[in-house]
Amino acid sequence: MTSQNPIFIPGPTNIPEDLRKAVDMPTIDHRSPVFGRMLHPALDGVKKVLKTSRAQVFLFPSTGTGGWETAITNTLSPGDKVLAARNGMFSHRWIDMCQRHRLDVAFVETPWGEGIPAERFEEFLRADKGHEIRAVLATHNETATGVKSDIAAVRRALDAAGHPAMLFVDGVSSIGSMDFRMDEWGVDIAVTGSQKGFMLPPGLAIVGFSEKAMAAVEDAKLPRTFFDIRDMATGYARNGYPYTPPVGLINGLNIACERLLSEGLEHVFARHHRIASGIRAAVEAWGLKLCAARPELYSDTVSAIRMPEGFDANRFVSHALETYDMAFGTGLGEVAGKVFRIGHLGSMTDAMALSGISVAEMVMADLGLPIRLGSGVAAAQEHYRQSTVTALRKAA
Ligand SMILES: *Cc1c(COP(=O)(O)O)cnc(C)c1O
Repeated sequence: MTSQNPIFIPGPTNIPEDLRKAVDMPTIDHRSPVFGRMLHPALDGVKKVLKTSRAQVFLFPSTGTGGWETAITNTLSPGDKVLAARNGMFSHRWIDMCQRHRLDVAFVETPWGEGIPAERFEEFLRADKGHEIRAVLATHNETATGVKSDIAAVRRALDAAGHPAMLFVDGVSSIGSMDFRMDEWGVDIAVTGSQKGFMLPPGLAIVGFSEKAMAAVEDAKLPRTFFDIRDMATGYARNGYPYTPPVGLINGLNIACERLLSEGLEHVFARHHRIASGIRAAVEAWGLKLCAARPELYSDTVSAIRMPEGFDANRFVSHALETYDMAFGTGLGEVAGKVFRIGHLGSMTDAMALSGISVAEMVMADLGLPIRLGSGVAAAQEHYRQSTVTALRKAA
Protein backbone atom coordinates (compact mmCIF):
# COMPACT_ATOMS: atom_id res chain seq x y z
CA MET A 1 0.00 0.00 0.00
CA THR A 2 1.56 3.25 -1.11
CA SER A 3 -1.53 5.47 -1.16
CA GLN A 4 -1.88 8.16 1.47
CA ASN A 5 -5.48 8.83 0.54
CA PRO A 6 -7.89 8.98 3.45
CA ILE A 7 -10.39 6.17 3.66
CA PHE A 8 -14.15 6.79 3.38
CA ILE A 9 -15.55 3.43 4.42
CA PRO A 10 -17.60 3.76 7.61
CA GLY A 11 -15.14 1.73 9.62
CA PRO A 12 -12.43 0.81 10.10
CA THR A 13 -11.69 4.52 10.07
CA ASN A 14 -8.53 6.53 9.45
CA ILE A 15 -5.92 5.97 12.16
CA PRO A 16 -4.13 9.12 13.31
CA GLU A 17 -0.35 8.91 13.66
CA ASP A 18 -0.29 9.10 17.48
CA LEU A 19 -2.68 6.17 17.78
CA ARG A 20 -0.76 4.11 15.23
CA LYS A 21 2.34 4.63 17.37
CA ALA A 22 0.50 3.85 20.60
CA VAL A 23 -0.66 0.49 19.25
CA ASP A 24 2.81 -0.43 18.02
CA MET A 25 4.72 -1.34 21.15
CA PRO A 26 7.15 -3.97 22.37
CA THR A 27 5.87 -6.98 24.26
CA ILE A 28 5.32 -6.44 27.97
CA ASP A 29 4.52 -8.91 30.72
CA HIS A 30 0.73 -8.71 30.75
CA ARG A 31 0.65 -10.22 34.24
CA SER A 32 2.73 -7.40 35.69
CA PRO A 33 1.59 -4.06 37.17
CA VAL A 34 2.77 -2.39 33.94
CA PHE A 35 -0.35 -3.74 32.28
CA GLY A 36 -2.65 -2.50 35.03
CA ARG A 37 -1.30 1.01 34.53
CA MET A 38 -2.52 0.82 30.94
CA LEU A 39 -5.77 -1.03 31.50
CA HIS A 40 -7.39 1.03 34.24
CA PRO A 41 -6.95 4.45 32.60
CA ALA A 42 -8.36 2.95 29.39
CA LEU A 43 -11.45 1.67 31.26
CA ASP A 44 -11.89 5.08 32.94
CA GLY A 45 -11.50 6.85 29.59
CA VAL A 46 -14.20 4.71 27.99
CA LYS A 47 -16.55 5.47 30.91
CA LYS A 48 -16.12 9.19 30.23
CA VAL A 49 -16.77 8.72 26.52
CA LEU A 50 -19.93 6.71 27.33
CA LYS A 51 -20.97 9.43 29.80
CA THR A 52 -21.42 7.02 32.64
CA SER A 53 -20.26 7.08 36.22
CA ARG A 54 -22.06 3.89 37.23
CA ALA A 55 -21.40 1.35 34.46
CA GLN A 56 -18.60 -1.22 34.37
CA VAL A 57 -16.59 -1.37 31.17
CA PHE A 58 -15.15 -4.57 29.64
CA LEU A 59 -12.74 -4.89 26.72
CA PHE A 60 -12.70 -8.17 24.81
CA PRO A 61 -10.29 -9.17 22.05
CA SER A 62 -13.07 -9.19 19.44
CA THR A 63 -15.14 -6.73 17.39
CA GLY A 64 -18.52 -5.05 17.72
CA THR A 65 -20.21 -8.34 16.84
CA GLY A 66 -18.54 -9.96 19.84
CA GLY A 67 -19.90 -7.04 21.88
CA TRP A 68 -23.46 -8.00 20.86
CA GLU A 69 -22.76 -11.57 21.95
CA THR A 70 -21.29 -10.36 25.25
CA ALA A 71 -24.45 -8.35 25.88
CA ILE A 72 -26.97 -11.10 25.27
CA THR A 73 -25.13 -14.16 26.61
CA ASN A 74 -24.29 -12.51 29.94
CA THR A 75 -27.81 -11.35 30.71
CA LEU A 76 -30.36 -13.63 29.01
CA SER A 77 -31.51 -17.26 28.94
CA PRO A 78 -32.73 -19.47 26.07
CA GLY A 79 -36.35 -18.62 25.21
CA ASP A 80 -36.17 -15.13 26.70
CA LYS A 81 -38.08 -12.52 24.77
CA VAL A 82 -36.38 -9.43 23.32
CA LEU A 83 -37.78 -6.55 21.28
CA ALA A 84 -35.96 -5.00 18.31
CA ALA A 85 -36.50 -3.10 15.07
CA ARG A 86 -35.08 -4.26 11.74
CA ASN A 87 -34.18 -1.15 9.74
CA GLY A 88 -30.83 -2.06 8.20
CA MET A 89 -28.06 -4.64 7.96
CA PHE A 90 -26.67 -4.17 11.46
CA SER A 91 -29.96 -4.36 13.32
CA HIS A 92 -30.75 -7.36 11.10
CA ARG A 93 -27.53 -9.12 12.11
CA TRP A 94 -28.07 -8.56 15.82
CA ILE A 95 -31.59 -10.00 15.51
CA ASP A 96 -30.17 -12.97 13.61
CA MET A 97 -27.62 -13.55 16.38
CA CYS A 98 -30.38 -13.48 19.01
CA GLN A 99 -32.38 -16.04 17.04
CA ARG A 100 -29.37 -18.32 16.68
CA HIS A 101 -29.00 -18.14 20.46
CA ARG A 102 -32.62 -19.33 20.73
CA LEU A 103 -33.96 -16.05 22.03
CA ASP A 104 -37.56 -15.20 21.13
CA VAL A 105 -37.22 -11.99 19.11
CA ALA A 106 -40.25 -9.77 18.57
CA PHE A 107 -39.18 -7.37 15.88
CA VAL A 108 -40.75 -4.48 14.08
CA GLU A 109 -40.06 -4.56 10.33
CA THR A 110 -39.07 -0.97 9.61
CA PRO A 111 -38.34 0.46 6.15
CA TRP A 112 -34.60 0.84 5.49
CA GLY A 113 -34.03 4.58 5.74
CA GLU A 114 -36.30 4.97 8.78
CA GLY A 115 -35.28 5.06 12.43
CA ILE A 116 -36.41 2.98 15.40
CA PRO A 117 -40.19 3.39 15.76
CA ALA A 118 -40.29 4.28 19.46
CA GLU A 119 -44.13 4.57 19.45
CA ARG A 120 -44.44 1.01 18.11
CA PHE A 121 -42.03 -0.14 20.83
CA GLU A 122 -44.27 1.54 23.41
CA GLU A 123 -47.30 -0.37 22.07
CA PHE A 124 -45.43 -3.68 22.33
CA LEU A 125 -44.25 -2.87 25.83
CA ARG A 126 -47.72 -1.79 27.03
CA ALA A 127 -49.24 -4.97 25.59
CA ASP A 128 -46.66 -7.10 27.44
CA LYS A 129 -48.54 -7.11 30.74
CA GLY A 130 -46.58 -10.06 32.13
CA HIS A 131 -43.27 -8.29 31.46
CA GLU A 132 -41.93 -11.16 29.40
CA ILE A 133 -39.76 -8.89 27.28
CA ARG A 134 -36.41 -8.95 29.02
CA ALA A 135 -34.49 -6.57 26.79
CA VAL A 136 -35.03 -3.93 24.11
CA LEU A 137 -32.32 -3.85 21.44
CA ALA A 138 -31.62 -0.55 19.72
CA THR A 139 -29.11 0.27 16.98
CA HIS A 140 -28.24 3.91 17.64
CA ASN A 141 -26.75 4.53 14.20
CA GLU A 142 -27.67 2.15 11.36
CA THR A 143 -24.41 2.18 9.42
CA ALA A 144 -25.99 0.51 6.39
CA THR A 145 -28.47 3.31 5.76
CA GLY A 146 -26.90 6.32 7.51
CA VAL A 147 -29.82 6.61 9.92
CA LYS A 148 -29.55 7.86 13.49
CA SER A 149 -32.24 6.75 15.93
CA ASP A 150 -33.45 8.55 19.03
CA ILE A 151 -32.34 6.47 22.02
CA ALA A 152 -33.84 8.93 24.52
CA ALA A 153 -37.20 8.29 22.83
CA VAL A 154 -36.75 4.52 23.27
CA ARG A 155 -36.05 5.13 26.97
CA ARG A 156 -39.20 7.28 27.19
CA ALA A 157 -41.20 4.45 25.57
CA LEU A 158 -39.98 2.03 28.24
CA ASP A 159 -40.75 4.48 31.03
CA ALA A 160 -44.17 5.46 29.64
CA ALA A 161 -45.13 1.79 29.51
CA GLY A 162 -43.76 1.28 33.03
CA HIS A 163 -41.79 -1.67 31.63
CA PRO A 164 -38.70 -3.04 33.43
CA ALA A 165 -36.92 -4.47 30.35
CA MET A 166 -33.24 -3.69 29.96
CA LEU A 167 -32.11 -1.38 27.15
CA PHE A 168 -29.17 -2.62 25.04
CA VAL A 169 -27.72 -0.16 22.55
CA ASP A 170 -25.44 -0.85 19.60
CA GLY A 171 -23.38 2.31 19.43
CA VAL A 172 -20.63 0.85 17.24
CA SER A 173 -20.79 3.67 14.69
CA SER A 174 -21.94 6.44 17.03
CA ILE A 175 -20.00 6.24 20.30
CA GLY A 176 -17.09 8.68 20.31
CA SER A 177 -18.48 10.56 17.28
CA MET A 178 -22.12 11.40 18.07
CA ASP A 179 -23.79 12.35 21.34
CA PHE A 180 -24.25 9.27 23.52
CA ARG A 181 -25.42 9.41 27.14
CA MET A 182 -25.37 6.04 28.84
CA ASP A 183 -26.56 7.13 32.29
CA GLU A 184 -28.98 9.85 31.22
CA TRP A 185 -30.71 7.60 28.67
CA GLY A 186 -30.81 4.67 31.08
CA VAL A 187 -28.82 2.42 28.74
CA ASP A 188 -28.14 -0.95 30.39
CA ILE A 189 -25.58 -2.22 27.91
CA ALA A 190 -23.64 -0.09 25.45
CA VAL A 191 -21.71 -1.89 22.72
CA THR A 192 -18.95 -0.57 20.49
CA GLY A 193 -15.62 -1.53 18.92
CA SER A 194 -12.14 -0.07 18.56
CA GLN A 195 -12.19 0.65 14.82
CA LYS A 196 -14.79 3.39 14.37
CA GLY A 197 -15.13 6.38 16.69
CA PHE A 198 -12.04 5.34 18.64
CA MET A 199 -9.94 5.53 15.43
CA LEU A 200 -7.96 2.35 16.22
CA PRO A 201 -7.39 -0.84 14.25
CA PRO A 202 -10.12 -3.47 14.66
CA GLY A 203 -9.74 -5.99 17.46
CA LEU A 204 -11.58 -4.78 20.55
CA ALA A 205 -15.19 -5.22 21.60
CA ILE A 206 -15.94 -2.44 24.08
CA VAL A 207 -18.98 -2.87 26.32
CA GLY A 208 -20.45 -0.98 29.27
CA PHE A 209 -22.77 -2.78 31.71
CA SER A 210 -25.11 -0.84 34.02
CA GLU A 211 -25.81 -2.02 37.57
CA LYS A 212 -29.09 -3.51 36.34
CA ALA A 213 -27.31 -5.46 33.60
CA MET A 214 -24.70 -6.65 36.10
CA ALA A 215 -27.52 -7.87 38.35
CA ALA A 216 -28.87 -10.04 35.50
CA VAL A 217 -25.59 -11.91 34.99
CA GLU A 218 -25.90 -14.60 37.67
CA ASP A 219 -29.32 -15.81 36.48
CA ALA A 220 -28.51 -15.73 32.76
CA LYS A 221 -28.40 -19.24 31.31
CA LEU A 222 -27.09 -18.67 27.79
CA PRO A 223 -23.77 -20.51 27.40
CA ARG A 224 -20.69 -18.32 27.55
CA THR A 225 -17.03 -18.85 28.33
CA PHE A 226 -14.75 -16.51 26.37
CA PHE A 227 -17.22 -13.61 26.76
CA ASP A 228 -18.10 -14.24 30.43
CA ILE A 229 -17.79 -10.85 32.08
CA ARG A 230 -17.43 -12.45 35.51
CA ASP A 231 -14.06 -13.93 34.51
CA MET A 232 -13.11 -10.60 32.97
CA ALA A 233 -14.07 -8.70 36.16
CA THR A 234 -11.99 -11.10 38.26
CA GLY A 235 -9.05 -10.51 35.93
CA TYR A 236 -9.38 -6.73 36.11
CA ALA A 237 -9.38 -6.80 39.91
CA ARG A 238 -5.92 -8.40 39.64
CA ASN A 239 -4.70 -6.02 36.90
CA GLY A 240 -4.96 -8.82 34.38
CA TYR A 241 -7.10 -10.82 31.98
CA PRO A 242 -8.52 -14.34 32.05
CA TYR A 243 -6.39 -14.86 28.93
CA THR A 244 -3.85 -12.87 26.91
CA PRO A 245 -4.98 -9.26 26.47
CA PRO A 246 -4.45 -7.31 23.21
CA VAL A 247 -1.98 -5.02 24.97
CA GLY A 248 -1.21 -2.70 22.03
CA LEU A 249 -4.89 -2.00 21.38
CA ILE A 250 -5.55 -1.32 25.05
CA ASN A 251 -2.63 1.10 25.14
CA GLY A 252 -4.06 2.69 21.99
CA LEU A 253 -7.52 2.93 23.54
CA ASN A 254 -6.11 4.80 26.50
CA ILE A 255 -4.52 7.37 24.16
CA ALA A 256 -7.64 7.47 21.95
CA CYS A 257 -9.80 8.40 24.95
CA GLU A 258 -7.29 11.10 25.96
CA ARG A 259 -7.46 12.43 22.41
CA LEU A 260 -11.28 12.56 22.35
CA LEU A 261 -11.51 14.06 25.84
CA SER A 262 -8.86 16.68 25.21
CA GLU A 263 -10.61 17.81 22.02
CA GLY A 264 -13.75 17.77 24.21
CA LEU A 265 -16.63 15.41 23.44
CA GLU A 266 -18.99 18.27 22.54
CA HIS A 267 -16.39 19.61 20.09
CA VAL A 268 -15.91 16.14 18.62
CA PHE A 269 -19.67 15.88 18.05
CA ALA A 270 -19.82 19.40 16.57
CA ARG A 271 -16.95 18.58 14.22
CA HIS A 272 -18.74 15.46 13.01
CA HIS A 273 -21.93 17.44 12.51
CA ARG A 274 -20.17 20.16 10.55
CA ILE A 275 -18.32 17.71 8.31
CA ALA A 276 -21.47 15.64 7.72
CA SER A 277 -23.48 18.78 6.89
CA GLY A 278 -20.89 19.71 4.24
CA ILE A 279 -21.17 16.26 2.68
CA ARG A 280 -24.95 16.54 2.70
CA ALA A 281 -24.68 19.94 0.99
CA ALA A 282 -22.61 18.25 -1.74
CA VAL A 283 -25.17 15.45 -2.15
CA GLU A 284 -27.90 18.04 -2.55
CA ALA A 285 -25.84 19.97 -5.12
CA TRP A 286 -25.45 16.72 -7.08
CA GLY A 287 -29.23 16.38 -7.15
CA LEU A 288 -29.00 13.07 -5.30
CA LYS A 289 -30.88 11.82 -2.27
CA LEU A 290 -29.80 10.17 0.96
CA CYS A 291 -31.17 6.81 2.00
CA ALA A 292 -32.19 8.37 5.35
CA ALA A 293 -35.79 9.48 4.99
CA ARG A 294 -35.78 12.79 6.88
CA PRO A 295 -33.29 15.36 8.20
CA GLU A 296 -33.78 14.39 11.85
CA LEU A 297 -32.60 10.88 10.92
CA TYR A 298 -29.42 12.01 9.14
CA SER A 299 -26.35 10.40 10.61
CA ASP A 300 -23.31 12.53 11.35
CA THR A 301 -20.97 9.55 10.87
CA VAL A 302 -22.04 7.94 7.59
CA SER A 303 -24.06 9.01 4.56
CA ALA A 304 -25.70 6.41 2.31
CA ILE A 305 -26.34 8.07 -1.05
CA ARG A 306 -28.92 6.72 -3.47
CA MET A 307 -27.75 6.29 -7.05
CA PRO A 308 -30.14 6.97 -9.95
CA GLU A 309 -32.62 4.16 -10.69
CA GLY A 310 -31.02 1.44 -12.83
CA PHE A 311 -27.43 2.45 -12.01
CA ASP A 312 -25.42 -0.17 -10.10
CA ALA A 313 -23.90 1.65 -7.11
CA ASN A 314 -21.20 -1.03 -6.80
CA ARG A 315 -19.71 0.33 -10.03
CA PHE A 316 -19.11 3.61 -8.22
CA VAL A 317 -17.21 1.92 -5.42
CA SER A 318 -15.06 -0.30 -7.65
CA HIS A 319 -14.25 2.53 -10.08
CA ALA A 320 -13.22 4.83 -7.21
CA LEU A 321 -10.86 2.19 -5.88
CA GLU A 322 -9.41 1.09 -9.21
CA THR A 323 -9.00 4.52 -10.77
CA TYR A 324 -8.39 6.91 -7.87
CA ASP A 325 -7.31 4.53 -5.11
CA MET A 326 -10.03 5.79 -2.83
CA ALA A 327 -12.26 3.52 -0.77
CA PHE A 328 -15.97 4.26 -0.29
CA GLY A 329 -18.54 1.91 1.27
CA THR A 330 -20.80 -0.35 -0.76
CA GLY A 331 -24.50 -0.83 -0.10
CA LEU A 332 -25.41 -3.76 2.15
CA GLY A 333 -28.41 -6.10 2.18
CA GLU A 334 -31.61 -4.57 0.86
CA VAL A 335 -29.82 -1.47 -0.43
CA ALA A 336 -26.91 -3.35 -2.08
CA GLY A 337 -26.31 -1.86 -5.54
CA LYS A 338 -28.65 1.03 -4.74
CA VAL A 339 -26.47 3.19 -2.52
CA PHE A 340 -22.84 3.94 -1.93
CA ARG A 341 -21.68 5.16 1.45
CA ILE A 342 -19.32 7.86 2.59
CA GLY A 343 -17.97 7.20 6.05
CA HIS A 344 -17.07 10.50 7.73
CA LEU A 345 -16.29 9.54 11.28
CA GLY A 346 -13.28 9.33 13.51
CA SER A 347 -10.16 11.16 12.44
CA MET A 348 -11.73 13.41 9.80
CA THR A 349 -11.23 17.04 8.78
CA ASP A 350 -12.88 19.44 6.33
CA ALA A 351 -9.94 19.02 3.96
CA MET A 352 -10.21 15.24 4.04
CA ALA A 353 -13.96 15.42 3.41
CA LEU A 354 -13.38 17.77 0.45
CA SER A 355 -10.96 15.27 -1.09
CA GLY A 356 -13.59 12.52 -0.85
CA ILE A 357 -16.31 14.72 -2.33
CA SER A 358 -14.06 15.75 -5.22
CA VAL A 359 -13.06 12.17 -6.06
CA ALA A 360 -16.72 11.12 -5.86
CA GLU A 361 -17.48 13.74 -8.51
CA MET A 362 -14.75 12.45 -10.83
CA VAL A 363 -16.05 8.91 -10.43
CA MET A 364 -19.62 9.90 -11.25
CA ALA A 365 -18.48 11.95 -14.26
CA ASP A 366 -16.37 9.01 -15.52
CA LEU A 367 -19.37 6.71 -15.23
CA GLY A 368 -21.57 9.05 -17.25
CA LEU A 369 -23.76 10.35 -14.45
CA PRO A 370 -25.06 13.92 -14.95
CA ILE A 371 -22.69 15.61 -12.51
CA ARG A 372 -21.06 19.00 -12.93
CA LEU A 373 -17.49 18.77 -11.66
CA GLY A 374 -16.99 21.04 -8.69
CA SER A 375 -20.67 21.43 -7.83
CA GLY A 376 -20.58 19.35 -4.66
CA VAL A 377 -17.12 20.56 -3.70
CA ALA A 378 -18.29 24.18 -3.97
CA ALA A 379 -21.38 23.52 -1.84
CA ALA A 380 -19.26 21.86 0.83
CA GLN A 381 -16.61 24.59 0.66
CA GLU A 382 -19.29 27.23 1.28
CA HIS A 383 -20.56 25.27 4.24
CA TYR A 384 -17.11 24.78 5.73
CA ARG A 385 -16.13 28.41 5.20
CA GLN A 386 -19.30 29.68 6.87
CA SER A 387 -19.34 27.27 9.75
CA THR A 388 -15.65 27.90 10.42
CA VAL A 389 -16.24 31.64 10.48
CA THR A 390 -19.19 31.14 12.81
CA ALA A 391 -17.15 28.93 15.10
CA LEU A 392 -14.38 31.52 15.23
CA ARG A 393 -16.84 34.33 16.01
CA LYS A 394 -18.38 32.31 18.81
CA ALA A 395 -14.97 31.65 20.29
CA ALA A 396 -14.02 35.35 20.13
C1 LIG B 1 -19.48 -1.95 12.30
C2 LIG B 1 -20.75 -2.19 13.02
C3 LIG B 1 -21.02 -3.38 13.69
C4 LIG B 1 -20.16 -4.60 13.57
O1 LIG B 1 -18.97 -4.43 14.13
P1 LIG B 1 -17.76 -5.40 13.80
O2 LIG B 1 -16.68 -4.71 14.51
O3 LIG B 1 -17.60 -5.44 12.31
O4 LIG B 1 -18.08 -6.73 14.36
C5 LIG B 1 -22.18 -3.48 14.41
N1 LIG B 1 -23.06 -2.48 14.46
C6 LIG B 1 -22.87 -1.33 13.81
C7 LIG B 1 -23.91 -0.27 13.91
C8 LIG B 1 -21.71 -1.15 13.07
O5 LIG B 1 -21.52 0.01 12.41
